[in-house]
Amino acid sequence: MSIYRHVLLAADFSEHGKEVARRAKQLAELNQAQLSLVHVVDNLPITDASYGPIIPFDVDLTEELMAAAKKRLAELGEELGVPAERQWLEIGSPKLEVVRIAEENAVDLLVIGSHGRHGLALLLGSTANGVLHYAKCDVLAVRLKDD
Ligand code: AMP
Repeated sequence: MSIYRHVLLAADFSEHGKEVARRAKQLAELNQAQLSLVHVVDNLPITDASYGPIIPFDVDLTEELMAAAKKRLAELGEELGVPAERQWLEIGSPKLEVVRIAEENAVDLLVIGSHGRHGLALLLGSTANGVLHYAKCDVLAVRLKDD
C-alpha cells in the first residue's frame, strides 16, 4: 500500500547524508512515489563588513557556492535516478527553504538527517529541528551517528 506520493530529500552532501539519501530512495520506491531533492546554500552573512579583515566584504562567493552545489546536486540526482526538474537548488535559510519547496510541490514526506544533539545545540536548533517545527507534511528524521 502506498502512503506517500512525493518524497523530498533534504540533501547536505555530508558523508552521513548518504545514509539519509538511501533511506529516502527506499521510501520512495516502497511507496511508488516521486523522489525529489533540495539543497540550500546557506545565506550566512559571509560578506558582512563586521567580520573585519578576515573576509573582505567586497568578495561575494555566492556564484561559486551555487555552481559547486549545483554540480553536487546533479551528481546526487544521477546516483539516485532523480531527473534535473526535480532537483531544487535554493539560497537562504535551509530549514525555511526546505519547507517552502515541500509546500510548493505537494511533498507529503520530507526526509532529513538528525544528529543526536542535546543540550545547547538542541536549544539553538538544528536544521532537522527547524524543519520539524515548520513543515506541514510528515517528516522522517533519519538518526545519524555523531562521531
Ligand atoms: P544539521 O542539523 O544542520 O546538521 O542537518 C541535519 C539534516 O538537515 C541533514 O542531514 C540534511 O538532511 C538537512 N540539511 C542540512 N543542511 C542542509 C542544506 N543546506 N540543504 C538541505 N538540507 C540540509
